[in-house]
Amino acid sequence: MDDQDKFTDYESPREKRYSMQMLLMFDSLIGKNTHGAFHSHFMESVQPLIELIDSLRMIGIDKDIDLPSIAVVGDQSSGKSSVLEALSGVALPRGSGIVTRCPLELKLRKLNKGPWSGTISYRDHNETFHDPLMVENLVREAQNKLAGNTVGICDELISLEISSTDVCDLTLIDLPGITRVPVHGQPDDIGDQIKNLILKYTAKSETIILVVVPCNVDIATTEALRMAQDVDPDGYRTLAILTKPDLIDRGAEREVLNIVHGKVIPLSKGYIIVRCRGQSDINNKIPLSKAMEMENNFFRNHRYFSSLLNDGKASTRCLADNLTKELVDHIKKSLPYLTEQIQTKLLSIQRELKNYEQSPPVEEELMGPFLSDIIMEFSDQINELSRTGHLRDKNVHALLRPVFKKWDIYLRGTEISFTARVNEMIDKYNEMHRGRELLTFSDYCEFERVIKNHVAALQEPAIDTLKDVREIVQDVFTKICYSSFDQYPQLRYIVSKMINNIQTKQEAEVEKRIKEFIDMEKLVFTQDKVFQQKLDPSDIPQKTGMDSNDEKLCDEDDKIFSSKGCALLDTRNLVPDKLVLYYEISYQRFTDYVPMLIILFMLKDAAKTLRHQMLELRNGGDVVNLLSEDSERGRRRVDLKKRLERLTQAQELISKSL
Ligand code: GDP
Ligand code: MG
Repeated sequence: MDDQDKFTDYESPREKRYSMQMLLMFDSLIGKNTHGAFHSHFMESVQPLIELIDSLRMIGIDKDIDLPSIAVVGDQSSGKSSVLEALSGVALPRGSGIVTRCPLELKLRKLNKGPWSGTISYRDHNETFHDPLMVENLVREAQNKLAGNTVGICDELISLEISSTDVCDLTLIDLPGITRVPVHGQPDDIGDQIKNLILKYTAKSETIILVVVPCNVDIATTEALRMAQDVDPDGYRTLAILTKPDLIDRGAEREVLNIVHGKVIPLSKGYIIVRCRGQSDINNKIPLSKAMEMENNFFRNHRYFSSLLNDGKASTRCLADNLTKELVDHIKKSLPYLTEQIQTKLLSIQRELKNYEQSPPVEEELMGPFLSDIIMEFSDQINELSRTGHLRDKNVHALLRPVFKKWDIYLRGTEISFTARVNEMIDKYNEMHRGRELLTFSDYCEFERVIKNHVAALQEPAIDTLKDVREIVQDVFTKICYSSFDQYPQLRYIVSKMINNIQTKQEAEVEKRIKEFIDMEKLVFTQDKVFQQKLDPSDIPQKTGMDSNDEKLCDEDDKIFSSKGCALLDTRNLVPDKLVLYYEISYQRFTDYVPMLIILFMLKDAAKTLRHQMLELRNGGDVVNLLSEDSERGRRRVDLKKRLERLTQAQELISKSL
């Protein structure tokens, strides 16, 4: 059969051309030349599709989306690496036991001309070499570095890129073989580890799964086939390869034929049988090209299998042929999905880039106005927050309310201890000083002492309240600073330091005033009418100041007051149980005054000072330094822009090819 006949059952010229390309590779391996008149015709139709994927890869789109590739799965020593080797023409590490211990991505790049070159990369290692014979050792070395010198596996990818005139554009992935029983030195869950690693690749809908099964095992029990069926139940992207046909027992040939014809386990994509280099061939250093010739002869002369060769179900060449067809089909099917993926990625990148859009001008003369703008925007936000207590989702009063509530509850709670202290004081006084007179209390100093002690104890909780508020306000201010100057670390640093300094200064100021206030409260004072109102809320005096009524009041037991304008509270002749009423007055002052003081200094005044200092910064700051961008952010923006470019380019490439 000549090469042209091989293509006659293909549907589209595109596929024909790619098959042609694959064949060229094999023909060149076995030293045959298939260049014919039809060649250029095929090249024209399939090339664009292959070139599309290739150019997508070239622009690095595989960093963003998964491109169609081929993964090889099978039991250990089933012949995976041998099949890959035959397909790629590159000798890979092979042998018995666990040989492939890391996923190996084999990127084959077709060169029109030029020498063979290979590049192996893993982790931060990157090495280019020019001798194909080095591949085996370099891959071994890479595996030892990644997975250790033992029998462990590792899911880090080794990437091997081969550029040559003798390969075609294909990406193949060799995976560790499935094992069930751990060998000495392997962890107990090695089987699961390997399966998970395989799944990582086979689960992707962009991957064609090549299931490799040796002819001399029971196919029904093959784990690889089951795994492939799990991720691809309809078998749209699974192709089974039977290896080692030269090793089957006599008499088992018919069974193998039944398998290949899909009579044992039917597969929609079917089976292909290949014969690769056996261990003795390798020992005898039989070159790949010679091995292919031997394979052809093997099938041609085989009593049972020669028919398979004619049916296009045997030989590596036929596998390559089929694989090409599958890959081209697969690429075609994947294109709409790729387009969709690109579209989604584009949208999300565009969205993310928006966050990075506001970038400072490059020209120094434009930097000043730019800085001024962003500072004003920040100041306006601080102003808004201080004026209304709200800024977008931030509500500073909602945050402060619980703190002040806590303060109020604390104050209320001290009433009991205050009353107890007053009563104790009166009891003591009466015991020591009371004579014949009715129960009264006239030791002002004693009462003052009780008050002093009581208010002195309020200083610490008041200052705690102040500290809590500072934390909240500073946090809100700093958050606004971070969101406003997110990309300018220098500016962010200066402004957050500024916020901190202002808050520290204001806190010290409030603390001073709280102490003053406590000292004032130690004076034991209230305006007469306030106290009187407490004594009898229904009898609010209409007049204030000194008049005859005041004198009268002094004589009445219930309204004892030596109220001379703003005199200090006089407890002389005060009925003892009325003394505790003073608590109410003091409480009222504390519960309001402390929060008011804090709000005024920590929020309002602090905001004013901050705005003021921001204006100074705007006028006198080192603009270039203040606007120097976060390097991480800068990098991210560059990266996003690159991705955007890649994806846009990819989109164009795909739409042109459709
Ligand atoms: P892997 O572990 O699945 O990658 O298997 P390898 O490709 O390393 O092959 C395991 C062994 O089987 C190696 O010694 C190969 O030379 C041998 N082998 C692979 N394919 C064939 C074949 O078709 N015939 C013979 N006789 N040996 C083969
Ligand atoms: Mg292997």
